[in-house]
Amino acid sequence: MKKPRTIRLVALILILLVLLPLLVFTVYEVSGSSASESFVTDVYRRQLDVVLFSINQFAWDVVNSWASTVENAWIPSDGGGTFPRAFAGEFLGRNPAVDAVFLADSTGKKISFVAGNAGDGAARRASLASRLASNEPLVNRLLILSRKNYRKIEPLMVRDSSGRANGVVLLFVLRDLRGRPALAGIRLRPDRFVEEVLAERMREASGAEFIITVTRTSNGERVFASGEVPGGESELRRQLWLFPDLEAGIRLRGETIQQLARSRVSRDVKILLILDVVLLVGAWVVYRSVKREMELVRLKSDFVSNVSHELRTPLALIRMYAETLEMGRLKGEEKRREYYETIVKEAERLTRLVNNLLNFSRMEAGRRPYDLSPQDLNALVVGVLDSFSPHLKNEGLTPVVDLDPGIPAVRADREAIQEALINLLDNAVKYGGKAKYLRVSTGVRLDDVFVDVEDHGPGIPPEYRERVFETFFRVPATRNAGQPGSGLGLSIARHIMEAHGGKITLKSTPGKGSTFTLAFRYEHDTRH
Ligand code: ADP
Repeated sequence: MKKPRTIRLVALILILLVLLPLLVFTVYEVSGSSASESFVTDVYRRQLDVVLFSINQFAWDVVNSWASTVENAWIPSDGGGTFPRAFAGEFLGRNPAVDAVFLADSTGKKISFVAGNAGDGAARRASLASRLASNEPLVNRLLILSRKNYRKIEPLMVRDSSGRANGVVLLFVLRDLRGRPALAGIRLRPDRFVEEVLAERMREASGAEFIITVTRTSNGERVFASGEVPGGESELRRQLWLFPDLEAGIRLRGETIQQLARSRVSRDVKILLILDVVLLVGAWVVYRSVKREMELVRLKSDFVSNVSHELRTPLALIRMYAETLEMGRLKGEEKRREYYETIVKEAERLTRLVNNLLNFSRMEAGRRPYDLSPQDLNALVVGVLDSFSPHLKNEGLTPVVDLDPGIPAVRADREAIQEALINLLDNAVKYGGKAKYLRVSTGVRLDDVFVDVEDHGPGIPPEYRERVFETFFRVPATRNAGQPGSGLGLSIARHIMEAHGGKITLKSTPGKGSTFTLAFRYEHDTRH
């Protein structure tokens, strides 16, 4: 059989082309979600790192420019140098974060100048000298670098007598007129520096997204925060280059990076799963419609062979019987009448088939006009049964007719309803089996006027009760039994009933029979 193989091929292609890659991708994504989570986390962390780096860089730029200011103001001389009288006051006044500016000889032992905001000059000189002395390697490094014409600034932590961090000295080297090195220093107050110089910059950098804090590492004291810190800890902490005792921290304003990464990744996975579902549904729809199309192709090819068969059989019979009659070889009136009847019966069958074919093609093209006028359904049924009676007699069938005389008129196209009814009667005879039972009744049910056509044939299995109304569809059992038919009769009847605003329905019990109902809606005031 060709059909199942092709359908299987379509299913296979869909699985290979759509479902398999989708499945593999989904499994890959879902299983790799923790890796992507840590990747996203990493990217965010790096971003945070860059922000902290830029703050450190900024602080460094500021002190570098201060060092340049000091250097430019310095009036070098042999064996030392000095500053203009007003310089120190002005410089310190402009930069409240600067505590003092001083000069020292290259050994660091002899402090030659101190300008500062507070305190006793001699005592400060002494404490600075001892601080420099205890950092000889650092001083030496600065001197070596300066010989190579590189001005480096080194921060040096200053502690008070109890050992607590108490400011930072930024040391760098100057050269006097003879090119001999001298040390210059700017003493900073870290907290003021953070407050006066860095705060604005940190607020700017933190924007609406981040919170930046500055904390003293020795005691955990918070020196600065650009906003309320929800739930405490910073995501990332970096020591401030200038102030070894201070640490800048940064975190996102709302969630933590991990929460953010997790929600991003889980959102991606959710979108992927939704896409999966959409694609699966799409594949299923494609599969179904291909299956339907193929079914239709098969039904159409069945239809062609059914119709040719239906056309050929009556034609062959008519021709054979007419030829026999023409030859005049038949003896007896009885026999001749029987031949004539057969010819008429077969001609009627042909007419029905041709009518169905014509109506079907007009309906397909949407060109069938309906001429609605009030009709008495009882009279219509009687008329159809009349014209059908030779056929019924031929089949040895006496219909039970049960008409309700009180039914109201319905608006209908007479010819179309006759045709629908003929198709039902024809089916009842064709598929009615050995029971030879046919009952036609009319009546009123709720808002409907109905015509029932009932037979006691083998019935229609539940799975086909909807499908028998489809174009070309024939129940496999009847098709296989070799019963002639085109699969058009019921679909035409349904089309006609729908055009009338009514419907055709089926009740059937396998083994017991079927009842087809034509139901018309009526307006109450038309009832007589
Ligand atoms: P056709 O009779 O030309 O095959 P129809 O559209 O009239 O086409 O009917 C469609 C199919 O429905 C028939 O092929 C038959 O299998 C089934 N069918 C119709 N009427 C009956 C009935 N009264 N009893 C059993 N099966 C029926």
